[in-house]
Amino acid sequence: MRKRAGCCSLCDVEVFEVGDRKPNGDPKQILAPLENARRLTLVLWSGHTANLTLCGECQLTPDRMSEIHATMVEALHRGTQHRTIPLEPAAAETERRMLYMATQDIPMGVLEDRLWTEVR
Ligand SMILES: [Zn+2]
Repeated sequence: MRKRAGCCSLCDVEVFEVGDRKPNGDPKQILAPLENARRLTLVLWSGHTANLTLCGECQLTPDRMSEIHATMVEALHRGTQHRTIPLEPAAAETERRMLYMATQDIPMGVLEDRLWTEVR
């Protein structure tokens, strides 16, 4: 699934207030988190952590870990695709390696699951 900025990583409903929008309606400017938005911190296979935001309804059960991983990797790839000037060869190699590592770096579990209102 294509993750939209400011939206739940599982069901894609908006979990942040939105300021400006793109012509297609996607959020362009992300403001404060909504009341029911939750910030999850995941532990990845490498030992690194990753944060994502879910709405109040979604539960990140073990069977949805691969789905959330695919969404995270897809978002990383998309973030590298809008360059007008190509990267230097060394930077391109670093980026290629980073994307490869991300595909291997599967989420192992949830370290923390808090309401955004408690995070601030
Ligand atoms: Zn959701």
